[in-house]
Amino acid sequence: MLETTLAGSLPKPIWLAEPERLWAPWKLEGEALAVGKLDATILAIKRQEDAGLDIVGDGEQARVHFVHGFLANVGGIDFELKKSIGIRNDRYKADCPTVVGPIRRKGSVHGAEATAARAHTTRKLKFTLPGPMTLVDTLADEHYGNRADMAFAFAEALNEEAKELEALGVDIIQFDEPAWNVYMSLVPEWGLPALERAKQGLKCVTAVHICYGYGIKANNDWKASLGLEWRQYEDTLPHIAKSSIDQVSLECRNSKVPIELIGLLRGKDVMLGAIDVASDDVETPEEVAATLRAAMAYVDPEHLFPSTNCGMAPMSIEVAYGKLASLAEGAAIVRKELGV
Ligand code: ZN
Repeated sequence: MLETTLAGSLPKPIWLAEPERLWAPWKLEGEALAVGKLDATILAIKRQEDAGLDIVGDGEQARVHFVHGFLANVGGIDFELKKSIGIRNDRYKADCPTVVGPIRRKGSVHGAEATAARAHTTRKLKFTLPGPMTLVDTLADEHYGNRADMAFAFAEALNEEAKELEALGVDIIQFDEPAWNVYMSLVPEWGLPALERAKQGLKCVTAVHICYGYGIKANNDWKASLGLEWRQYEDTLPHIAKSSIDQVSLECRNSKVPIELIGLLRGKDVMLGAIDVASDDVETPEEVAATLRAAMAYVDPEHLFPSTNCGMAPMSIEVAYGKLASLAEGAAIVRKELGV
C-alpha cells in the first residue's frame, strides 16, 4: 500500500548532458552516446532504489525531451524543418519539428532502455510516453490539417511502441498529457478517445499524467495567472473516471488545485504529487506525510500512490533524489500510522 513512484524524468549525469537545463544537447555521440544512455538509465534506476521508491522508471535518460524523444524513430516528421510555435495555447515558444507526411513508427523507439532497465531491477517498472494530444501540441503540421486526425495517427504509433514495452516486461505504461490542463473541452472530444486508442489491447497497468508543467519560468508565470483555485481537473477527471485508464497522476503539493477534486476519480488509482518540482526546497518526510493524509479524505489508501508533481529533468541530481528519498520516508510514516 502507498507504493511510491515518480512522474517521469530525472536529471541526467553531468557526463551525458548539461545539467539543470531543458532540451540540453548530448555531450556524447555515436556509439559512446548509445552506451552512455543505457548506463545513465541503469544509474537512474539504482538511485531510485537507493532513495526507496517502490515503482521505478527509466528517468527518461535516453531522451532529450519527453515529447520529441518519442519521435526519434517515427516517420512523417522533418526534424530539419523546425518552426517556432506557441505551444500549450501559446504559453511559450518552442522550436518544433514539422509533420510532413503520414505518421508511422519505423521500429522500436525505447526498447533498448526498457530492456536495460528491466534487466537491472526487480521492482515494478514504469515507462512514460507522451500522449497523443501533447504530441500534436508540440509539433508543427503541414500534412494533416486537423489535430484530431493527427492525434489518432500518433495513437496508433504509440500503441505499437506500448505493446513492445509491455512485452519487454514494463509493468506500468504512463502517457503524459500536460495539454489536457490547457484544452479541457477537447479532452472528451478527441483527447481521451485518442488515448484509449493508444492503450488498446494492453494488459499492463496504464496511466495518464496531467500536470501544470516543469518548474520553468513560462510555466510558473502561467500558474500565477490561473487565480486562487486551479479547477482544470474538474472538467476532465469525470471523463477519465469513466475511461479504461487505470491510474491518474496529478499535481498536488504547493499547487492551488482544491484537494477535493481528486474525489472525482473515485475507483481509480491516484498517483498523487506530494513533491513540488518548481522549488529546490526539499520537502521533509513529515510534509510529504501531511499531503498524503489530506488526500486520504478523498482517495482510499489502496488507491493512493505517492509521487512527484511532474518530471524533475531540470533539477540538480542532489535536489531531485533528495526529494525522492523524502517521498519514500513520508509514505513510510503514513504506512506506519495505517498499521500496514
Ligand atoms: Zn508533468
